[in-house]
Amino acid sequence: MKLAYDFHIHTGASPCGDESMTPNNIVNMALLKELDAIAITDHNTTANIKSVLEVARDTSLVIIPGMEVETSEEFHVITLFEDIEQARQLQDIVYDKLPKLKNRRYIFGNQLIYNSQDDIVGEIDRLLLTATMLSVYELVEIVREIGGVCYPAHIDRQSYSIISNLGLIPPDLDIVNLEISRYCQKNSYINKYPSKRIIQSSDAHYLGDILERVSYMEIDKNKPKYWIEKLKRIKNVS
Ligand SMILES: [Zn+2]
Ligand SMILES: [Zn+2]
Repeated sequence: MKLAYDFHIHTGASPCGDESMTPNNIVNMALLKELDAIAITDHNTTANIKSVLEVARDTSLVIIPGMEVETSEEFHVITLFEDIEQARQLQDIVYDKLPKLKNRRYIFGNQLIYNSQDDIVGEIDRLLLTATMLSVYELVEIVREIGGVCYPAHIDRQSYSIISNLGLIPPDLDIVNLEISRYCQKNSYINKYPSKRIIQSSDAHYLGDILERVSYMEIDKNKPKYWIEKLKRIKNVS
């Protein structure tokens, strides 16, 4: 079965995420676009994932808990997990490895926490939009130990990407996926990196950015149990 996905979506917890990126708006937009699975990947936080999971619980949409982590090399890496507890384990480590600075919302923007009714129930006080002290090698190892997957984000971009900052994908970096931005020609990256799987996601900061059914992934029994169970329950997938 093919799964239509968008594995890079920000909520209002990301300072650059639009305040319309609330749990209900995101889930409903993804459903309108007939996506099967989305990942919530805020900058260095998992604060809104629980509410998004609650909103999507009785829908056909699979929510993948994730986070977009900025490494010490100042590029972005998408991390994805099977469940929220794993994502929170990484959250604890990331918070410990972020500089202890306060967010300056007039410069960076708000970092809003929503409940499942889209009420604002809090604000993250610490600065999220900055590099952690985790190198990409450390991050890959930590995510693997927790049981998730991670891969460099938007490698085609001129900023905050592994290619812009390191000049290449280090051959000894133990990753199987690479993310490209929504307007890239996927085939050219497939040809350029034949040993990697190319993931194309939106990096949505606004509701309208969320992908249509354009990125697909084949799902099989090796995929996380949670996806399979939910898809079976909702769609009678055998
Ligand atoms: Zn990014
Ligand atoms: Zn992003």
